[in-house]
Amino acid sequence: MASASNRPRPDHAAAASGGDKASPDAGAARAPGASPDADERFMRLAIEQAELAIAHGDVPVGAVIADERGDVIATGHNERELRQDPSAHAEMIALRAAAAHIGHWRLLGTTLYVTLEPCAMCAGAIVLARVPRVVYGTDDPKAGAAGSVLDILAEPRLNHRPSVTAGVLQRECAALLKDFFAARR
Ligand code: ZN
Repeated sequence: MASASNRPRPDHAAAASGGDKASPDAGAARAPGASPDADERFMRLAIEQAELAIAHGDVPVGAVIADERGDVIATGHNERELRQDPSAHAEMIALRAAAAHIGHWRLLGTTLYVTLEPCAMCAGAIVLARVPRVVYGTDDPKAGAAGSVLDILAEPRLNHRPSVTAGVLQRECAALLKDFFAARR
């Protein structure tokens, strides 16, 4: 079982809570703290979402957004091939659904769970939506924007920095992708 704490990366949560002048709404936007059990439970739902993408030939990436009560308010899976839309990533679909559910673009009190490290587009949208916390499964060394290629989620010049937990159910999330690409060969 991959541990969320086995990755040598800066603690974004600690960085964001220490005199975070650039994030005036951070206090009101605080998501519930990390509970490893809850994180794994929501990540399993994100994995179920990812599996739905396979039916239409899309790379299996899934996302869920939970509110501060721990209720799932939005889900999404990759629909890039299905819609022939370069922006139809799991996170974008979930962010739009969450905003529609809340009735506001600012997603206070939410946590976004996604099986794969967000890309630059999705990380940008997460910052714009003021999502307080992001949990992801496995790194994306080719396009990840939470530390692998870029670190948009920790960029000090932006006005919002979510706390980030990486590596939740890492092996399962990575296996989804590995099996998908192996089956296509
Ligand atoms: Zn993306």
